[in-house]
Amino acid sequence: NCMHVNTLILGAGAAGLHCAAFSGPNTLVVDHAKAPAEKIRISGGGRCNFTNLGTTPTNFISQNPHFAKSALARYTQWDFIDLVDRHGIAWHEKTLGQLFCDTSAKDIIAMLLAEIAPTADLWLQTEVGTIRHDGTHFHVALKRLGQVTLVQADNLVVATGGKSIPKMGATGLAYEIAEQFGLAVTDTRPALVPFTFSDDRFKPIAGTATPARLITADGATFDESLLFTHRGLSGPAVLQASSYWQMGEDVRVALAPDFDITAALKTQRAQDGRKALTTALAVHLPARLVDFLGGELDLTGNVGDLADARIADLAASLQNWSLKPSGTEGYRTAEVTVGGVNTNELSSKTMQSKATPHLYFIGEAVDVTGWLGGYNFQWAWSSGYAAGMAIATG
Ligand code: FAD
Repeated sequence: NCMHVNTLILGAGAAGLHCAAFSGPNTLVVDHAKAPAEKIRISGGGRCNFTNLGTTPTNFISQNPHFAKSALARYTQWDFIDLVDRHGIAWHEKTLGQLFCDTSAKDIIAMLLAEIAPTADLWLQTEVGTIRHDGTHFHVALKRLGQVTLVQADNLVVATGGKSIPKMGATGLAYEIAEQFGLAVTDTRPALVPFTFSDDRFKPIAGTATPARLITADGATFDESLLFTHRGLSGPAVLQASSYWQMGEDVRVALAPDFDITAALKTQRAQDGRKALTTALAVHLPARLVDFLGGELDLTGNVGDLADARIADLAASLQNWSLKPSGTEGYRTAEVTVGGVNTNELSSKTMQSKATPHLYFIGEAVDVTGWLGGYNFQWAWSSGYAAGMAIATG
């Protein structure tokens, strides 16, 4: 059983489907899952945070911070918004430039399937077997409904994503294919993932959320919500910081980051000195958190009794809380994988392998990782477009 296609795309996720919309006639997209783009379906709480209005190359992590620039410039957030508008999908900005569907993430999947229908076939529940390259063509063994088909392809696009959430079908296939073709892969680790602490120290305040500033060892800083959990820390600020965190490092937390605690306590000392310090702090922090902090810091006495030095110490403790996570929740819950195919191996304009022409890597498989907030999908759209256009015009 043999067939020939112009372009074979492995992975019917965000990047693979978007690439297929541009790669031209005789494209075949294959995926081992039962349904395409399962991560789009569950993303953004079912509403898909499909891009970010403020997307710039600085919102991405890579060993080469310049790599993403070209693709992001040639297919921008505005291009994707145009596509969404053309399909009549209603959307709204939630916060910090994050765009979500009004109704359902399924609208984005239906849009992508409609875009590829004229030029591409989609095979689901298809296992990818051996891949051979004879110098001109790729020969890929695909197993579907118990039958093996040998597909000969002029172009091979690897869009099988990263390792996050194996339960949803994530595999390391992209890295294996990269290695087979001699492309270097950077170290990979789970990212956009909660921190864990082996002593479950935050259990008493699990469920408490508060605005915070998270600062990682390399200085990455995120002002968003922090959530205490049974096993550790979560919430947007923590997920963002996790992408920059390496095992063994401390993270620093500033509680009430936009608030001058020193000035506030001095005012309260002058005006309402008989108030308990814990009550005074509970004006600015959740009461349960203040109770908890009473176990770590000396919060006894009244504000009126506080010397300037103690106020300064207290403010420093609250705004420079150093914590050492014992780990993360891992790939089981991580939204993305940091690292991937080394960008030195790829053309930033086309995502094509420098060593093997007509072999492309796109999306999360590549060592480009977006922040939380729609950036990872934007990278999937932009890198998919770059490869698709290179194939169609090349
Ligand atoms: P994927 O979308 O993961 O697609 C890869 C495809 O390849 C899958 O369909 C998979 O079944 C298939 N595949 C894998 N291995 C094989 C194999 N061996 N054989 C055959 N097929 C294979 N990003 C945002 O920007 N906004 C969000 O709101 C958002 N929410 C998220 C919520 C969750 C819970 C998760 C897990 C992630 C979220 N992300 C979000 C991240 C985003 O989903 C990914 O970065 C994005 O889907 C990557 O696109 P991709 O096409 O490279 O990979």
